[in-house]
Amino acid sequence: MSDKPFTGGCQCGAVRFRAERLGRASLCHCRMCQKAFGAFFGPYVDAFGLEWTRGAPKHFASSNMARRGFCGDCGTQLTFEVLEAEAGQTVNVAIGAFDDAAAIRPTIRIGLEDKLPFADDLARLPTRSAEEHEASRAYYAEVRSNQHPDHDTDSWTPHG
Ligand SMILES: [Zn+2]
Repeated sequence: MSDKPFTGGCQCGAVRFRAERLGRASLCHCRMCQKAFGAFFGPYVDAFGLEWTRGAPKHFASSNMARRGFCGDCGTQLTFEVLEAEAGQTVNVAIGAFDDAAAIRPTIRIGLEDKLPFADDLARLPTRSAEEHEASRAYYAEVRSNQHPDHDTDSWTPHG
């Protein structure tokens, strides 16, 4: 992967981070990741040299072995941290929280014992018709996002 710093943060912008280097990117299908993300799996990447550049996450000890970091204001999942990390073991950061998530391609799936029965079918689901897509354009034209932009900002007032 690239050796430029990788930046990201939560949806509301109260918490921002930077990582020097990224390692293995994974999709975890375990039940805890499903629950934490409110989704079908948890996408994480090993982050080295992680710094919090604005705010800091709150934590939930999801087990006796690990805690999960999230934005206390907007709830965005941010990290998975082993409590007594061994040498070389690092913090996992949620891939979708990075400004350039498209650059972080997962290379392995784990936690398959809890995988939801339809998880392998998601990419084959039908999509909306062109007519349905067109009909929703007027609605989306009115949407004013409160999400922090996908880059660092000098100052930012979370709103929404
Ligand atoms: Zn937030």
